[in-house]
Amino acid sequence: MAERRDHEEESDRLERKYEEGALLKDKNKEEFRVLEEVFDRLTLQAMLKLYGRGTIDVLYGAIKAGKEARVYWATRKDGKELAIKIYYTHTADFRKGMMKYIEGDPRFKRISRNPRRIIYTWTQKEYNNLQLAADAGINSPQPLDFYRNILVMAFIGEDGIPAPLLREMDPEDPQEFYNQTLEEMKLLYQGAGLAHGDLSEYNIMVWENKPVIFDLSQAMLTIHPMAEMLVRRDIQNINHYFGRLDVETRDHKELEEWITGGTQDLYKDT
Ligand code: ADP
Ligand code: MN
Repeated sequence: MAERRDHEEESDRLERKYEEGALLKDKNKEEFRVLEEVFDRLTLQAMLKLYGRGTIDVLYGAIKAGKEARVYWATRKDGKELAIKIYYTHTADFRKGMMKYIEGDPRFKRISRNPRRIIYTWTQKEYNNLQLAADAGINSPQPLDFYRNILVMAFIGEDGIPAPLLREMDPEDPQEFYNQTLEEMKLLYQGAGLAHGDLSEYNIMVWENKPVIFDLSQAMLTIHPMAEMLVRRDIQNINHYFGRLDVETRDHKELEEWITGGTQDLYKDT
C-alpha cells in the first residue's frame, strides 16, 4: 500500500511538472488568462487537456453551480453543444459522503485516499454510469469524455439554454410522464444494471415531453448491497412528486418489485 501511494505521488508530481512546462508556452493567450480567473491550476490544466484532445472547442458561461460541481455550456468543432461538469476539488465536506458510494464497487477496487483522486474517481464513476445508461437506451446525456475532475457530455437543451428540470416545469400530461419515468427506472435497473440513488424532480429534465434522467455520479451497480435501498428511496421521491400533481401513483412495494424484475407487467390489472 505504502509503495503504491509513493508511486502515485511520484506520478502526480511528474505529471504536474510536465504540464506546467507545457502550459508556460500558452500563458500569454487571452483564453488562458480568462480561464485562470475561474479555475484552480490543476483544473485549468485538465481543461486544456480536453481542448488539446479536441473534445471541447469553445467554453461558454456556467449554466449552474451546485454543491459538488459547476456545469458549463460549451461547443465542439462540429457545433455540437456540450455540458461540462466540473467537480470542485477544494470543498472537503462531501468527500466523506462520496466514499460510501465508491467503496464496494468492483469497478473501483483500489481507491486512493488522496482527496483529489477521490474526486477523480467520482468523475469517472459518473462517466461510466452514463455510458451504461446510454448503452441500455436510457434517455440520458451521452457521455463524451472525462479527465480528472471534468466530465464532458451531450448538452440537453438548445442554444445554451438547458432543458427545464421537472422541478421547474410540470409535465403536460403528468400521468403519462409518470409512466415514462417508471419505464426509465426499470430500464436503468434491468438494462443498465444501475440504481440511481438520487432520483427526484431535481435530477430529471423535461425535454421533448420526455423525462431525461441525469446526475448519475452516486448511482450504484444493482449487484451492490446498497442498490435496493437506493431504489426504494428513488420510488419514494418520484411517487411523492407525482402524487402532488394528482397522479395516481402505484404502491411502493409493487413498484419496487416491478423495477427490480419481480413482476412482468405492472399495468395488467388496470
Ligand atoms: P449537481 O446536482 O451535482 O450539482 P447535476 O448533474 O445535477 O449536478 O447538474 C447541475 C445542473 O446542471 C442541472 O440541474 C442541470 O440544470 C444542468 N445540467 C447538468 N447536466 C446537463 C446536461 N447534460 N445538459 C444540460 N444541462 C445540464
Ligand atoms: Mn443534481
